[in-house]
Order: sequence, then structure tokens, then C-alpha cells
Amino acid sequence: MVDIGIELQCDKLIVATGGMAAPKTGSTGLGYPLAEQFGHTIVETKPALTALITEKDLLNKAAGVRTTANIWFENSTREKDGNSNEANKYSETGELQITDYGISGIPVFNISRMATKGTLIHIDFIPDYSINDIVEYWAKTSDYNPKIQLGTVMDGILNTKITAVMLEKACIKYNCLLGELHLDETLNLLKLLKNYQIVVNKPRGFDFAQVTAGGVSTEEVNSLTMESKKQPGLYFAGEILDVDGICGGYNLQFAWATGATAGRNCVE
Ligand SMILES: Cc1cc2nc3c(=O)[nH]c(=O)nc-3n(C[C@H](O)[C@H](O)[C@H](O)COP(=O)(O)OP(=O)(O)OC[C@H]3O[C@@H](n4cnc5c(N)ncnc54)[C@H](O)[C@@H]3O)c2cc1C
Repeated sequence: MVDIGIELQCDKLIVATGGMAAPKTGSTGLGYPLAEQFGHTIVETKPALTALITEKDLLNKAAGVRTTANIWFENSTREKDGNSNEANKYSETGELQITDYGISGIPVFNISRMATKGTLIHIDFIPDYSINDIVEYWAKTSDYNPKIQLGTVMDGILNTKITAVMLEKACIKYNCLLGELHLDETLNLLKLLKNYQIVVNKPRGFDFAQVTAGGVSTEEVNSLTMESKKQPGLYFAGEILDVDGICGGYNLQFAWATGATAGRNCVE
């Protein structure tokens, strides 16, 4: 006898109650205690495919900007013997959205499940150009037009709000003449553009997440039938399981595929 708030007698049961993400869409999280009552392990749940709230940063001034960028961070994990560190690098390129609380957009969603408080996010605002490309381009531009201002040139490759943030961070004036920029100032500015660093405070919570990481341990479910290995006749499908994918339809695909598998095997 399992208490799920309603009286139900059945030989077979498919639990497809989803996860905890976006409760406005009906997520209750009630499938987890049900699974636990049948002896299942619930891998810790956390929001995934969500935005990142960052520490207050000058970049917040560029809220509203969407721009192509490469973002990455590294997590170091210490081996059990305490001797060696293995660094995992997570990197995504796509449309970055800058907000007044932090960063969002598909590349951020895709790395959000691995980011935690204190994670140092690196942003490359000009992923298609190397530092050398820009140094050469700026040298030619200032030769051709000695009166051209740095800000005008930067606006040619960046959103104007990003230009403003970078110049403020580098303490360089918008109307500084490109040809009068010292090499160390140029390199400092380009370092900011290629490797802007921002610290995560926390991922946005379940209210804003598209999917739940964690859930019913897949080790306790037969992946060919979706039947529980703990309780014959009990099946699981979809996001309630400890499976989550990056953006691209993988979560819906998983829900449909496991739902169809569970349904077919239920009636056999
Ligand atoms: C805003 C948003 C955008 C998304 N975009 C994408 C996308 O582009 N691509 C992609 O692959 N995935 C996307 N997802 C994720 C995807 O929608 C889910 O992973 C997928 O719908 C999970 O399917 P599911 O059937 O397991 O759970 P759900 O779709 O959550 O369905 C679970 C159902 O169970 C019901 N339920 C819960 N508790 C109970 C209870 N106690 N009794 C009865 N019923 C209950 C719920 O009301 C709900 O109807 C998105 C999610 C959100 C929130």
C-alpha cells in the first residue's frame, strides 16, 4: 500500500509525473516520494537549463543585449587519493543574453547544471577573432584614418552597450584616438573582450528552469522496458528519471521515447 493521496488499485502503473522545473506548467515533484515508497533511490534534484545569477558586475549595465559569444568554465575535481586534480572544461558558443541579474541564453542554459556558487565564467565576446587579428586590424585602421576614435571602431564589432562596459572596465575613454592607444592598453582591452570573467552566485531556481537534473536512479530501472527493478508492474517515463539533456529537443524526445516504451511493455 502506497500513499499518493488518492486510492488506486492496479496491476501496472506508469509514473510520468515529470520533475520540479517550471511548477506553473504542472510540475509537483510528487512522483519522487511515490518512487521512494517502492524503494527507489532519488538522485539529488536541481534546476537545469536555467539562467545564472552572477555577483554584481559592470556587465549588468549591458542588460538587454543578445550577442554571439563563447562561454566556458573549468571545474577541478580532486581524486580520492587527494593527489591529482582533473579539470573538466565546459564550453558553449551561441547567443548570450545579458540581464540585470546575470547571464542567460542557450549557451548558459547548457552549462547551468554544472555551475555552482563561485564558479568563474569566462566570456569571449569576439569568438571569431584572435587577439592578433584585432591588433592587426586596428593598426591598419588607425594608419588609414588617424582621427578615428577607439569607441567607434569597437562599435563596429560589438554591441554599443558592450563597448561601453569594456571601456569603463579598462578605464579608457570612448573618444580616445585608436592610433594613440598604447600596446599594453590595447592588450588589456582585448583580454577583457576575449576573456571577460564573471562569478556565479547561483543558478536560477526551479521556477525558471526548463528541466530537472536528478530524479529516479536509472540503475534501478530496466532501460529496455522502463520497468522498475524494485517493483514488478511499476514503470517510469520522462523527466522523473535521472536524465536531462542540453537544449535541442532531447528532453522531449526522452519523455516520448520512454513513455512509448513503458506503454508498450505495460500492455504486453
Ligand atoms: C519553458 C520550457 C521550455 C522547454 N523547452 C524544451 C525544448 O525546447 N526541448 C526539450 O526537449 N525540452 C524542453 N523542455 C523540457 C520538456 O518540456 C520536459 O523535459 C518534458 O515535457 C518532460 O516530459 P514529462 O512527460 O516527463 O513531464 P511533464 O511534461 O512535466 O508532464 C508531467 C505531467 O504530470 C502531471 N503531474 C505532476 N504531478 C502529478 C500528480 N501528483 N498527479 C497527477 N498528475 C501529476 C503534471 O501536471 C504534468 O502534466 C522545456 C520545459 C519548459 C518548462
